[in-house]
Order: sequence, then C-alpha cells, then structure tokens
Amino acid sequence: MKRVAFHTLGCKVNQVETEQIKDELIQKGYQVVDFSQPADLYIINTCTVTHVSDRKSRAVIRRALRTNPEATVVVTGCLAELEPEKLASMKGVNLVVGNRDKHRIAEIIDSQDELLTNGGLIREPISSQDPLEPVYYHLHHERTRAFVKIQDGCQSFCTYCIVPYTRGPERSKDPDLVVKEFKQLIAMGYREIVLTGIHTGQYGKAMPGWTLDRLVKKILEEVGGEYRIRLSSIELREISDQLIELMRNEPRLCRHLHIPLQSGSDKVLKRMGRRYNREEYRRRVLETAELVPDIGLAADVMVGFPGETEEDFAATFQLLQDLPLLDLHVFKYSPRPGTPAASFPDQVDERVKNERSSILLDLAEQKHQAFLKKMIGKKLTVLVESCQAAMCTGLSDNYIEVEFSSIYNLCGQFAETIVNDISQNRAVAILKP
Ligand code: SF4
Repeated sequence: MKRVAFHTLGCKVNQVETEQIKDELIQKGYQVVDFSQPADLYIINTCTVTHVSDRKSRAVIRRALRTNPEATVVVTGCLAELEPEKLASMKGVNLVVGNRDKHRIAEIIDSQDELLTNGGLIREPISSQDPLEPVYYHLHHERTRAFVKIQDGCQSFCTYCIVPYTRGPERSKDPDLVVKEFKQLIAMGYREIVLTGIHTGQYGKAMPGWTLDRLVKKILEEVGGEYRIRLSSIELREISDQLIELMRNEPRLCRHLHIPLQSGSDKVLKRMGRRYNREEYRRRVLETAELVPDIGLAADVMVGFPGETEEDFAATFQLLQDLPLLDLHVFKYSPRPGTPAASFPDQVDERVKNERSSILLDLAEQKHQAFLKKMIGKKLTVLVESCQAAMCTGLSDNYIEVEFSSIYNLCGQFAETIVNDISQNRAVAILKP
C-alpha cells in the first residue's frame, strides 16, 4: 500500500480542497500517514497570503524532501498559482498544479502521468466559466463539523490582498450540487455544515436569481434531519435583509456572522479599497445585533496599514469598543509583493504595529469576556464535540465554547443547555432539565 502525507497552509477553502484530494487517494488505495513520517507521496497545498505564508510553504516542501528524498512531491495551492515555475524548479519537486486543476490531482497521480516523473507543471488560467467541481466524500472523519465549498474566486481587489490574483474570477457551485453534497455529509453523520468560499457573499453572482440567502433557503427546504448551517466570513454589504430574517427565525441557521472590518478609519478603508465606511459598518452591526438576539459577531481588523496614523487607529479602537462583538481577529499588515499597497508610501514601523496589535488583542479579550457574561442565564444549543470524565464540551450556535457535565457520552449530538457561569474563555452550563 502506498503512503501519502498532506500538508495544508492557509484558509478553510484550501483545507476543504485537501480533504477532497485525500478522500480520492484513499479510494485509490493510498494509506494516509502523518506529514512527519516517510511517505511515497507528499502533497503540499500552499498559501501565499503574506510573505510569511510563502516562506512557510517552501519550508514545508523542503521538510517533505528531507523526510524522504525519494518521494514524489506534488505542490498545489495559491503559491503554486502565483509562482509555478519557481516551485517547479525546486530540486525534488515532481509536479506543480495550479488552483484550477487541483481537483484532478488524484486522477493525475493515478494515471502515472509522465509529468510526474519529469517534473511537470499544470497551471491553466482560471476563467469565470470554470465550474466548481462536485465533491463526493467517502470518509467519515469522526468529527461533527464539515465544510461545503460553495464559491471560489474574488474580484474585489482590495489593495493589500493577493487572493484575486491566485483564485481567479468569482464562480459559484450549482445549487443542486450544493444540496447533494450537503445531504451526503448529513448522511455521514456530520451535524454542522459550514458554507464556505473565498468570497462567500458573492454566491450566485453569475447565476441569475441566485443569492446566498436563496441557497440557504433551498438547503433548509430540501435537506431533512438534524443539522445546522453556519456561514463563513461575509462582507458587510453582502448581509442581506433576507439573510438576517432567516437567522432570526430559523434555528437551523447559526446566529453567527464573521464580518471583516479591517479599519475604523474612513481614510484607511478607502486606501484599502474596501467598499463601506465606518458609519455603515457601525449601523449594520448594531441593527443585526438588535434583530438577532445574542448573535455571535466577529470582526477581522488589520493594524499598521500604510499611512495609518494614531488618529486612524484611535478611530478603529473606538468603533470596536462600541460594538457588541464576540470576537476580534487581529492582523498586522504585512506588505504582499504584487499588491498595490506594498508600494504605498508611509509604511508603518513594526514596533508601532506590535503596539497597536497588542492593544486590540487586549480589547478582544475584554469583549469576549463581556459577551460570555451576557450569556449567563441564557439557553444555548450546543453541538457536543468531546466528552471526557463526565464533562462534555462543544460549540453553541452563536460560536461560544460551552462545557457541561453529563454522565452520558453525547458526542455528535445537540444538547440543550443553560449557562450558569463562565470559566476562562468558556461558558459553563447545565443540561436543560
Ligand atoms: S474581498 Fe478583498 S480581502 Fe477579501 S479576498 Fe477579496 S480582495 Fe482579498
């Protein structure tokens, strides 16, 4: 039996795509081993979102070659899309595959394609007409949560981001295929399905009449059984009233939204190429929090974008402080070669970035604690992920980690709980009588 090892860098979409290749190779008779182990085949799914991701991606390739210099090494993902020749010329790399053909990797390996032995390169330009391939999983991962990739590509071209150059134009998966994949995962025992994409809120853009909320409605209507749907990160202007309405009334749609902010300064937002302003963000978040009680709202925020002054940072801090957020994901700007912002003047000193980042991380902690406190006395439906020594833990629909004691192993089941305390970053609850 041939052994294959995988390493995935970067986003959830990359991870879903690796799972798909893994599943197909297992079907073809491969045994999956840990990446630190000698394998006959290594598949490295790279990321290029920052120069650190580039460095890590190359380091992982070298690590595979050190573990088994005789192995076949296949490199794919966003760095493979951006710098295919450079990667193909690395000693020991057998094949580089761009994002468009990533889904065919198992097939290419199985066919013993001559490209594999001759150090090949497959990288075709991505077109808006390329369909998103259906996925047919066979594995059961003993987990509760699975991801369905519904969309790929981005055409927003924010000035700091390389993604539009590596993922191509926006494409959406056929709604019937999404439902089919969804049903399959529910039948395999998954109870929470996350709808994910590179720019998820753009779902349906090139399919007349289709939108993300219509897709969610279709799934809810056509898929029976016990499950819940979670949405991955979504841009502010893509949160439709219909989506909010569904979140208000449909318990199977998680009350959780991750809405990138990036900056609370209109000047910085404009330079970033973001398509909203501070006031719009503030209004929509407050309105959403009012319409959907106890919704878990998270924001991405970037510090140290070129030209960000103390006043700009103070505006960001103030806005975040005022909003009812559960989580903040704080990033330090790092110039990505090939993006407009990398050559902007007024790059911010690393020391200043570190200071601003640590101020926001403290704020994030305070906000998380405040949100948890607000949950005391509330009922939460928890999808149980682990049970050990009569203690179960899982995630609530509004994205809080909850623990409660139970003599039963409730793994993989929904539990109705009431929060009565908090402990560190978790809610402590009891099972609802
Ligand atoms: S919306 Fe902006 S930040 Fe997000 S992937 Fe597209 S270009 Fe990058």
